[in-house]
Amino acid sequence: MQINAIYPGTFDPITNGHLDIIARASKLYSKVIVAVAVNRGKTPLFTLEERVQMVESVTTEFTNIQVIGFDNLLVDCAKQQNATVILRGLRAVTDFEYEFQLAGMNRKLAPQLETMFLTPAEQYEFISSTMIREIAQLKGDVSCFVPVVVHQRLIKKFN
Ligand code: ADP
Repeated sequence: MQINAIYPGTFDPITNGHLDIIARASKLYSKVIVAVAVNRGKTPLFTLEERVQMVESVTTEFTNIQVIGFDNLLVDCAKQQNATVILRGLRAVTDFEYEFQLAGMNRKLAPQLETMFLTPAEQYEFISSTMIREIAQLKGDVSCFVPVVVHQRLIKKFN
């Protein structure tokens, strides 16, 4: 049975934590669509094009990963992509409340979609894009938290 999953997020920028989730998901689903949100609620550091490009460049080793940008309702984007699973990552209990609410809302909007959660390896549990941006802005070393290309882009952005 072919099951396509959609993994939505801001990915501002993609971290080793996101990548760990993508690697796990690629083994579980026929296809994983990494859907990079425009996100009008936040003001991302990187443009949508930059964020999509970074995700693409660090996922080339996976044959069943597709990267898209999206600006519509997630459940509509999932339907357009023929995805039946919404994938989210759970780091700690602090993520739970928000993710639980989001999953409930998405179920109300589209009952046929299931939200599935994956947890990363423990060394990635504390990584967040927000912290990466803050540390990088203050010229801290984030090289062990993000892929090389992302590290280079961060250095360029803040120089
Ligand atoms: P959003 O703005 O939608 O939360 P993010 O890019 O911050 O977008 O996160 C996308 C998804 O990836 C979320 O489900 C988030 O919980 C998950 N995630 C973020 N960082 C990690 C990490 N270090 N390990 C596992 N999952 C993560």
